[in-house]
Amino acid sequence: MASFGGVAVFNARMPLNPARVRADFPILQQRVRGKPLVYLDSAATSQKPEVVIEAMARFYRESNANVHRGAYKLSEDATAMFEGTREKVARFIGAPSAEGVVYVRNTTEAVNLVAHGWGRKFLKAGDEVLLTEMEHHSNLVPWHLLKRDRGIVLKHIPINDEGRLDLSRLDELCTMKTKLVALCHASNVLGTINPVAELAAKAHAVGALFLVDGAQAAPHMKVDVGSLGCDFYAFSAHKMCGPTGVGVLWTRPEILREMDPFMVGGETILEVFLDHSTFRDPPHRFEPGTPAVAEVAGLGSAIDYIESLGLDSIHSHEESLAAYAQQKLAAIPGCVLFGPRSGPRGGVACFNLEPIHPHDLATCLDQDGVCVRAGHHCAQPLMRRLGVVATARASFYVYTSTSDIDLMVESLNRTREFFGCR
Ligand code: PMP
Repeated sequence: MASFGGVAVFNARMPLNPARVRADFPILQQRVRGKPLVYLDSAATSQKPEVVIEAMARFYRESNANVHRGAYKLSEDATAMFEGTREKVARFIGAPSAEGVVYVRNTTEAVNLVAHGWGRKFLKAGDEVLLTEMEHHSNLVPWHLLKRDRGIVLKHIPINDEGRLDLSRLDELCTMKTKLVALCHASNVLGTINPVAELAAKAHAVGALFLVDGAQAAPHMKVDVGSLGCDFYAFSAHKMCGPTGVGVLWTRPEILREMDPFMVGGETILEVFLDHSTFRDPPHRFEPGTPAVAEVAGLGSAIDYIESLGLDSIHSHEESLAAYAQQKLAAIPGCVLFGPRSGPRGGVACFNLEPIHPHDLATCLDQDGVCVRAGHHCAQPLMRRLGVVATARASFYVYTSTSDIDLMVESLNRTREFFGCR
């Protein structure tokens, strides 16, 4: 076994061994109420391996200084790490250069940056933005403000009953009036993986730009912004074994150079006079103030870690866990499953156990040390389309094994008994 960035390198095509991977995550070693912790909420945030925690601690212990400012070695080292990680991020998503990589706080901030920096500058009344019915609020609400303030028109690609995009009316929805098509690469509720390259080609054919919310994709599968045809790609470090507080907006540099900064101040400027200022080139024009330097160290380490496991191996591991979970859940009387039952999908199993409210379900599972999410998953329009107010959701990652799913299913059966379900 070779070593890469301080972590063991497995063959990228080798199946993941979740028991071995689990040992890398200190938090997963604990017991909850005397039972092993079964963490099935990785779509909300992933757990962090020791190497990532250590990379951040080491930065604070050995290299902490502000970036881009000091003429001393500590600051130069911090800057080299910060800019070196930008190059690593570019390589991770197949971007030709680091110029298009803007550090933001998370996916939400990334989409807001596009709405403010590009949307407010280039969109006018009557221009259309095409979204989908399965979007997270992060890729809906920023466009609502532009609708209110600029008079843009929002359209949505519907979903079919299987939980995939219904593209039968695409020609009607995506026209010369469409200026941006923006959608999630993978749904945080349905697990659907969308045909991004096909939709990018359609967007470009009508002269629109193409934004991908990669929050649920970049951590789980190989992403190549070039072959996908993206103009904007957004993701968060905290869902890919990295820390909270840092995320990425990648933008095609030609577009980024034309965008307005969204927040300004130190770092973003070239020259400041009392009554006006001039701005730096991208990406620094979009990174005001002191950035999340230690978190960027964590992000770099997280990329090394998940690449050492292999993105293809991660994807197939999660796909088989999703199939296993669906099969086990479908066998429970009263269990209603949401999302595609076949074809490409991510590691998410969304379900309800009728007639138990998903919040009660999550509370009962917690008694057995099983962490699942219950609620609308920041996708209220999708909940309406599914005809529910909330669901339970189990989501998987590199450390999840079939035995975690078995423990959840045992706990669900106990919960049914507790509620007197037949
Ligand atoms: N988009 C999708 C599809 C998500 O699942 C999430 C997180 N649940 C977000 C956007 C927002 O991510 P963040 O909270 O890191 O900004």
